[in-house]
Order: sequence, then C-alpha cells, then structure tokens
Amino acid sequence: MELIHDIEDMMTRASALGAEGKRVALVPTMGALHDGHLELVREARAHSDIIVVSIFVNPTQFGPTEDYDRYPRRLEEDIELLRSLAADGVIVFAPGVEDMYPGGHLERQPIRFTVRELDRWLCGRYREGHFDGVVTVVAKLLNIVRPDVAVFGLKDAQQFVILKRLARDYFFGTRLIGVPTVREDDGLAMSSRNRYLNHEERLQARVLSKAITDAEAAVKRGEQRVLGIVTAMRDTIGQSELAKLQYAEVVSADDLQPLETIESGMEVLVAVAAYFGETRLIDSAFVTAP
Ligand code: AMP
Repeated sequence: MELIHDIEDMMTRASALGAEGKRVALVPTMGALHDGHLELVREARAHSDIIVVSIFVNPTQFGPTEDYDRYPRRLEEDIELLRSLAADGVIVFAPGVEDMYPGGHLERQPIRFTVRELDRWLCGRYREGHFDGVVTVVAKLLNIVRPDVAVFGLKDAQQFVILKRLARDYFFGTRLIGVPTVREDDGLAMSSRNRYLNHEERLQARVLSKAITDAEAAVKRGEQRVLGIVTAMRDTIGQSELAKLQYAEVVSADDLQPLETIESGMEVLVAVAAYFGETRLIDSAFVTAP
C-alpha cells in the first residue's frame, strides 16, 4: 500500500505505471469508506494491475448550506480498511485542497465545467452547481492518474450518467464502470452520511429502499404510467413521519429527462431523495421495461 499526497508525485507514478504496461484503475471517493466503496475496489481489481483510490472531500461539489465542514474525514481508518482488503497494488491518493484548486478562490475559478440539461432534474435540481463540482474534480483526477478504467457506484446514478458523458465527449480515454448499490441488511443503501442518522432516523430510512424496490418491480411488471409509480413511491416514503421527501422521479436513463409514460423496452431511472433530520439520503435504480 502506497500513500501519495503530492499531485506531481502521483502524475510521475502514473506515467511510470503506464510505461511499464500496467493497467491502472481509479476509484474516486471522498473517504469515510464503507463496504460500498470496497465493492468498487473489488470491481477495479478485476480490470487492473494497480488501483488508485483517491480520497478527497471536494469542496466544489458542496453547496453553501451543505455539510462540507462536518463531512467525516478519517484517512487513517480508510487506509487501514483498504490495507485489510488489498494491500498489494493499491495506491491511496489524498491530495490537498489548495493543490487541487490552486489560487484558493474556489468560487472564482477562471475556467470551469458546467453541466447543462443532465442536471435539470433529480439531485441537480436541488443542489445547484453540485455536478459542476463533481465533473471538475473528476476531470482533474482523470488527468492526474490517466487510468484505463474508473469505477463509480450506481447509487449516485445521475453522477454516473453525467460522468459517462464527460469521459465520452471530452475523449478522456478512460472506460467508466458502474457498480450496483451495496446495501445494509435491511435494504438501506450504504453511504458515508448514514453515520449522521440517529437510531429512529436510521430505522425509518428503510422506506427509501422500499420505495425504490417497489417502483423497480412495477416497471418490470410493465406498469407504464409514471404518475402511478411516483404516487406509490411518495406514499411509501410518507409512511415515515421523519422523512421529508425532496423528490421521487422516474426519468429516462440516457438523458435524465422526466417521463409520463414508459415505453416498452425503455431503460428508466427511478430515484428518490429525502431528508431524515439534517441528513439527506438518496436511492435509485436503473430498470428496463419489458
Ligand atoms: P463518495 O465517497 O460518497 O463520494 O462515493 C465514492 C464512490 O463510491 C461513488 O462512485 C459512489 O457512487 C460510490 N458509492 C457510495 N456508496 C455506495 C454504495 N452503497 N454502493 C455502491 N457504490 C457506492
């Protein structure tokens, strides 16, 4: 296991690996690692000789009222966890904020990526600028590491669709791989933010995965009316008195635009977001209609 903080060192190491003919996988994370992240590392293992796990709490993807300051930072524990999983062939890349964003004034960066249309619905609608920040940091990481593949969780479904367009439209030459959502025993999608939940919130948060599973089943059964599916998702989440629903949507899987009717054979994304106390949780699934 290697730990690299310096960007120049990471770039030198990455080009040496390329010269040796090693296949490199990148797994971008914000740390506070859990089994969901480890599943990405396992998947990366199947496609590469060396895995770079980046750990970087990216300030540009947090809104002014979001949890950037209190987001869990636990590099030591993360390194131990990765070591226990796969010590060989893993590089932890943990750059500093000032190095990733030279000049400091994050909000005044002169050159920026802007996401359009793909961030109009779902999380993008409620987290202004979030995906601009995600795309910006992933573009930087892809340029630093130049990986053959990069592995992401489908839990962040909108993020995955947007990043695939980034890699494709800007010719990064990296293949993106999506890994299905890893869940707790009761269905709750694993997330670094789950640790913010108190006992009661944690129990009631199960309604999210229930809403998604039911919606998924409805689409697979051939239900075509989006309104009916969305109403059922809202009702399920409404069974938790602590849940404050942000959205329950069914959108087209390729352009993330809302649908009224699901055509036969169409791939859709069913997705929800809700607050439990101060904690915002999301869940989603890609489903293909029969
Ligand atoms: P984060 O550290 O939350 O930015 O997540 C880093 C990567 O891990 C992203 O690609 C996420 O989609 C992925 N991820 C987070 N939670 C899960 C999960 N429960 N199952 C699968 N992937 C996940």
